[in-house]
Amino acid sequence: MKWIHQRGVLDFMEMTDFSLALRQELTALAIAQPPEVEECLLSPEGTQKYLIKLESGSMIEMVKIPEKKRLTLCISSQAGCALQCTFCATGAQGFERNLSPAEIIGQLWIANFYKQPSQQISNVVFMGMGEPLLNIDPVMSSISIMQHQNAYGLSKRRITLSTSGIVPEIKKLAAKTDVSLAISLHAANNELRDEIVPINKKYPINELIESCKGYLENQSKRKTITIEYILIDGVNDSIEHATQLVTVLKGLSCKVNLIPFNPFDGCNYLRSQELTIQKFKDYLIGKGVITTLRITRGDAIGGACGQLVGKLKNSIMGKNNINRINIVHTS
Ligand code: SF4
Repeated sequence: MKWIHQRGVLDFMEMTDFSLALRQELTALAIAQPPEVEECLLSPEGTQKYLIKLESGSMIEMVKIPEKKRLTLCISSQAGCALQCTFCATGAQGFERNLSPAEIIGQLWIANFYKQPSQQISNVVFMGMGEPLLNIDPVMSSISIMQHQNAYGLSKRRITLSTSGIVPEIKKLAAKTDVSLAISLHAANNELRDEIVPINKKYPINELIESCKGYLENQSKRKTITIEYILIDGVNDSIEHATQLVTVLKGLSCKVNLIPFNPFDGCNYLRSQELTIQKFKDYLIGKGVITTLRITRGDAIGGACGQLVGKLKNSIMGKNNINRINIVHTS
C-alpha cells in the first residue's frame, strides 16, 4: 500500500524492498493501474478538471480545487447517474455503471501522482458524478484506503459523502462510517423538491431530515451535516424559500452551503442574481443558520459536474464542439 499510495509506484518490480520472488509473483498475479486521463483542464483561478476514461470506455470527471489551507478533490462514484436532478449535467446524461473501488481510489491516486508527484490532496468530497449511496460497497472500500495510515491517512473530517437523500442507506451509514455527510437539498418543500430532485418523491424531506438526525446520534456533538443548496434564479431563491429552509432544518445540527447555479447547455435554469443570493444568505444568517456561500470556480472549464462529459458526448454526436470550451489545456 505504501509503495502504491504513498510513493506512487505502480510497477511491482520497482518495489525494491520485496524479494525478487515476491515481486515476480505480484507481477504475475496483479495489476496496479489507475484509469486513463483523457484531458486535464486548468481554469484561470487554478481549479483543475480531469476527464477520465475508464477501461469500459465510460467517461467520468474529477476536480481538484486549491484553497488557502487545503487542496480538495471532488470525485465520482458512478459513470453517469440515474437520479435525473434537473439542475445537473450528469443527471441529464443518464446512468452508465457503478465504479469499482479501484476506479474510485484511482482518482485520488491520479490527483496525487499523475505525471509527477504533486501537492497531496488534503480533502476528498464525493460530489462528482453519481450518487455514492447507490454504490455504497465500492465507496466504503475506497474510503477505507483513503483513511488507512499506509495509504492516504485522511481523517474522517476530511472526507465528505454527499447524497441526494437515499434514506435507507443514510440510516445504515452510521454503522459503516463516521465521515462527514452532505445532503443535496436544494428545496425545502416537497412539491418543489419532487421537481428538481426527483428521488424526493420516494424519500420526502421529513424522512430525509430524520435520517440525518439519526446519522448524528452517538457522534461527536461538534459534528454537523452540510446542507447543499443550489440557488436557481426564480426557482428556489426567494425569501419564502429561505423561510421554509429555516423551518425544515430546525433541530438538525447543520450548516448550509449555498451554491450559485452553474449553467450548462441544454438546461434552461439561470444563476440567481447577486443581490438575491446575498439576501438569501443574510436571511439564513439572521435566523441563526450557519451559512457559507461557495465561490464559483471553474466556469471556464465546465464547472458543473458532468458538464465536460456532456460536451464530449455532444461533440461525438456532432451536436457540439469540445474545442469551443474556453480552456487552458495542460496535458
Ligand atoms: S445531482 Fe448528484 S444525484 Fe442528482 S443527478 Fe446529479 S449526480 Fe445524480
